[in-house]
Amino acid sequence: MDQLGVAAQTQKSPWGSVGPAAPACSLTEVMSEQLARQLDEENAFPALSDPAVDPLRSEEAPDTTSDLMLAQMLQMQFDREFDDQLRREEKKFNGDSKVSISFENYRMVHPYEDSNSSEDEVDWQDTRLDPYRADKPQTTPRRGFSGKGKNITTKHDEDTCGRKNTARMDNFAPEVHVGDGLGMDLKLSNQVFNSLKQHCYSEQRRSARLHEKKEHSTAEQAVDPRTRLLMYKMVNAGVLENINGCISTGKESVVFHADGGSLEEQPVPEEVVLKVFKTTLNEFKNRDRYIKDDYRFKDRFSKLNPRKVIRLWAEKEMHNLSRMKKAGIPCPDVVLLKKHILVMSFIGKEHVPAPKLKDVTLGSEEMKEAYQQVLQLMQQLYQDCSLVHADLSEYNMLWHQGKVWLIDVSQSVEPTHPHGLEFLFRDCRNVSTFFQKRGVSEAMSVYDLFNTVTGLNIPVGAEDEALFMAEIEALEKRNEDHIQKRGKKTFPMTSEDGGPPLEPDSDD
Ligand code: ADP
Ligand code: MG
Repeated sequence: MDQLGVAAQTQKSPWGSVGPAAPACSLTEVMSEQLARQLDEENAFPALSDPAVDPLRSEEAPDTTSDLMLAQMLQMQFDREFDDQLRREEKKFNGDSKVSISFENYRMVHPYEDSNSSEDEVDWQDTRLDPYRADKPQTTPRRGFSGKGKNITTKHDEDTCGRKNTARMDNFAPEVHVGDGLGMDLKLSNQVFNSLKQHCYSEQRRSARLHEKKEHSTAEQAVDPRTRLLMYKMVNAGVLENINGCISTGKESVVFHADGGSLEEQPVPEEVVLKVFKTTLNEFKNRDRYIKDDYRFKDRFSKLNPRKVIRLWAEKEMHNLSRMKKAGIPCPDVVLLKKHILVMSFIGKEHVPAPKLKDVTLGSEEMKEAYQQVLQLMQQLYQDCSLVHADLSEYNMLWHQGKVWLIDVSQSVEPTHPHGLEFLFRDCRNVSTFFQKRGVSEAMSVYDLFNTVTGLNIPVGAEDEALFMAEIEALEKRNEDHIQKRGKKTFPMTSEDGGPPLEPDSDD
C-alpha cells in the first residue's frame, strides 16, 4: 500500500456530513518529514551544551529541547514518591515487630542519588551486608588437612573448629538468642558449643512438652484429643453404640452417658456411663494420700509417672466396685476399663440419671428407710469388703428404684490405710449430719455410728471429739505397727478383684 487516499473520499456519515479531508499525502512523504525534523533536532542539541544558551530562557529555543531533562526530573519525582510510598508500606508491614523485613530492594532511587532524603528518614538496612551474619569459616580440603610440613592445619585445628562452631550457632532455633558474637572473630570450643547445643535442644523439647501438656489435658467440659480417640475406638469396636452427652463434670472426672453395644459377644448394659478421669494433674495432687498409702497400689505408685497415676484411680474404682458388687452392695457394674476411662452400668432410666440423695424429696418413712439402708451399706462396706468409702456423702449416694446406690469409689481405701479410720469418721459425720438434718430421729451420732460400723467400742465419754480422734489415731498407729511386723497384708486382696476386662496398655 503506497497511497493513503482512502480517507480523502468524502463519505456519507450517519452523524452528518464530514468536512473535506486534508489533501492526501504519501507514506514516504510522512516518513521523510519526520526524518527531517529528527535531523533538525540533532543539529540543535550541541547548542544545549553551550553554557551561554539557556534553553528555558531562550525564546528561540523550542520547548521540546528540554523534554529529556523534564522527563528525567519527572521520573525522579515519580521514583521518589514511589519510594515514599514503599517506605510507608514497609513501616506498616513491620509495625512494632522486632524482626523487620526490608523493602530496600524495591526502591527506585538509591539513597546516594536521592539528595532530598534526610538521614533520619532512611530507615532501611542493607541486607547484603549483615554484620550479624557469621562469615563462612574456611573449609578444610577433602583430604582433611591443608598446608604442608610444619604449617599443616588439620580439620581438628582449634581455631578453625572454634570459628566453625561460632558459625554453626546460626543454625540454632530462631528463639535462641545467640547475641552479636557472630560479628566478632569468636572461637567456641567444642565443649562450650556442645553444651549450648544441648541446652537449645532441651529447651525446645521442654517447650514442645508444654504444648503437649495442653493438648493432653482433659479440659473443663470437654475431653482432650487422646481421650476422644479412645472413646471413638470404643464406639468403633462396638462396645458402645453411641455416646450421648455429658452427665456431670466434676473436679476429677467427666461422666458421659452412652448406649451399650456388646463386648466379646457379651451384651453390654443398654445404658452405660463413661467416667473419664481428668488428666490434669493439679486436682489429683492433694488426693495422692488416698492411693500412695494404699498397700494395693503402693509399689506401683512410686514407679509411675503422674499421668499414669491417674489411670490407677480408674483402676482403683474398678477394683472397689467389683468388691462391692460381690458383697451385694447396690453399685454400678463395671463393663470395661481402658486407661483413664471406666465404663460402667448406668444408674437411672432412659437417659435420666438417678437423683443424688441430696436432691431427692422423700417422705419421712422413705427417708428413715434410706437411713437404715445407708447404715447397712456402711457396715457391709467395712466388714465384708474391707473398704472405707472416704468420700461418702449425700452427693455420692443415688436413690434408684427405692434403693440407695453407692458410687464414686475411686478414693476408697482399706481400713488399714494409715488414715483409713479418720476417713471413716469423716464419712460418719457426713451421714449422721445429713439424716439428722432431714429429720430422721433414729440417726445416730457420729460417734455411735462409727462404733456401729466398725464394731469397735471407743468410749464416747463426754462426746469430746478431740479425745475420740486421739483414740482413732492411736488405733491407726497400732494397726500400722502391726502391719509392719506381720507383712503388709492384713486384709488379703482377693484375686477376683480383677474381674472385668482390663485393656492392656498399647502406647506409652
Ligand atoms: P466425681 O468424682 O466427679 O464426683 P462421680 O463418680 O461422683 O464423679 O460422678 C459424678 C456424677 O455423675 C454423679 O454425681 C452422678 O450424678 C453421675 N454418675 C456417676 N456414675 C454414674 C452412674 N453409674 N450412673 C448414673 N449416674 C452416674
Ligand atoms: Mg462424686
